[in-house]
Amino acid sequence: MPIGPFRSTLTRVLAAAAVLLPALVATSPATAYFPAACPADGPISQHFHSGHNGVDIAANYGTPIYAVGDGEVTISGTEPGYGQWIRIRHPDGTMSEYGHMSRRDVLAGDHVAAGQQIALVGSEGQSSGPHLHLRIWGDSSASYGVDPVPFLAERGVILPCIPGTTPQPAPLVYPAESGRVVSARSADGRLEVFAAGADGVHHAWQSEVNGAWSAWESLGGPAGAELAIGPNKDGRLELFAINGNVFQHRYQLSTSGNWSGWENFGGGGKDIAVGANKDGRLEVFASGPVGVFHKYQVAPNSGWSEWESTGGGPANSRLEMEKAPDGRLEVFALNGDVFQHLFQTAVNGGWSQWEAFGGGGHDLTVDHNRDGRLEVFASGPVGVFHKYQTNPTSWSDWEPTGGPANSQLTSESSADGRVEVFAINGSVAQHLWQTGVNAPYGQWASFGTGGTEITAATNADGRIEVFGTSSAGVYHKWQTGFSSWSDWAWLSNTAGPPIN
Ligand SMILES: [Zn+2]
Repeated sequence: MPIGPFRSTLTRVLAAAAVLLPALVATSPATAYFPAACPADGPISQHFHSGHNGVDIAANYGTPIYAVGDGEVTISGTEPGYGQWIRIRHPDGTMSEYGHMSRRDVLAGDHVAAGQQIALVGSEGQSSGPHLHLRIWGDSSASYGVDPVPFLAERGVILPCIPGTTPQPAPLVYPAESGRVVSARSADGRLEVFAAGADGVHHAWQSEVNGAWSAWESLGGPAGAELAIGPNKDGRLELFAINGNVFQHRYQLSTSGNWSGWENFGGGGKDIAVGANKDGRLEVFASGPVGVFHKYQVAPNSGWSEWESTGGGPANSRLEMEKAPDGRLEVFALNGDVFQHLFQTAVNGGWSQWEAFGGGGHDLTVDHNRDGRLEVFASGPVGVFHKYQTNPTSWSDWEPTGGPANSQLTSESSADGRVEVFAINGSVAQHLWQTGVNAPYGQWASFGTGGTEITAATNADGRIEVFGTSSAGVYHKWQTGFSSWSDWAWLSNTAGPPIN
């Protein structure tokens, strides 16, 4: 199920927030996001940061500039820094500013519509080349602007953009995260979550799309398991659970429907990951004392192969999978000593040999940039490091990001395609996000107190929802906007299983 553009789902976002968190909504100003328009055709040449109050869109001299929203032109003039510039006040009180232009087409007092041409790109004022400097004020009394990238994304425009086009929704890419808590979206848009307690696996689900949660249901199954979840080609979710002695799975009997009971899937092991081949066949990897094995559906929605060796791989490793833009799956395996990866050599096809990927560590998460480049995060004693594809066949070196030592990691893409990473250890929870689509990351920020495991999923309306576990039970926390979050809360006011 694709994620809808934010501007068509805002009423549902607000409605969902009202259902989930009446107290917060009651004390928040009523926000009605206006439908935005693309300001100019060109790549981002400088992002918003503490020394740059706006975003730069590089474009040739004379490229048309369009109003990002309906409003009144309050300034159309010249100024030493900006050169020729325009300010538009939008009906919700936010303001947009456009600088360095070679020509202005509107005057102060004019009313403009979203997408109306207002100027041409130039290089006037303090400018090193032709570009649009776009600045956004969240309210008229603020002393510094807000990041135009999420501001526009909340209003349906993802930078860089093409004027006059409707933004395309981000693709929903499986595999999902594996761990002691996993969540995935049913074909009808409702999230489901599974948590592995000492007495077996517990299950809860949204009783309405983007909305409230069921009570927890105890499913039995492997005790103290590691879990993975993925969708069959027909949309039926399938859950896998492994511990040192047993490996079982269960699956939806119909799309978004009830679940089967537990069925045997193999011998015990350390960890699992599941991904969907481009043709829709699920493929499962499991680690154990002698390396990593895999097993795959012989046809979509169908039966399974026997277990096969992958030719090695790190013993008792933590596993994650991701999918390259061309549909080839890639597997990453980390234990305390080594980090290796393995990838399909053809779509739906065979697998490479294991290759070195880095040193050992504690946990890993893998995600894909909006442009498809994979990005891997790994935690260890001195924090979280990342490594990313610089093109489809080559990787950067490892780079430090800071973050909590020896943390459990998860990641998720926001509706505008920016990757966000969540880390939890015994004392803190923190998160880190891309400052723009396919862009570098900002600083780690507080996300709560410590816990034992973390995972994230995306609601049908594009809001990320995070599940954190502790010895007291399972918490969740969800986006109320691109940069705003609810507090942590129990699902349906009940703690669920303790996860140690
Ligand atoms: Zn600028």
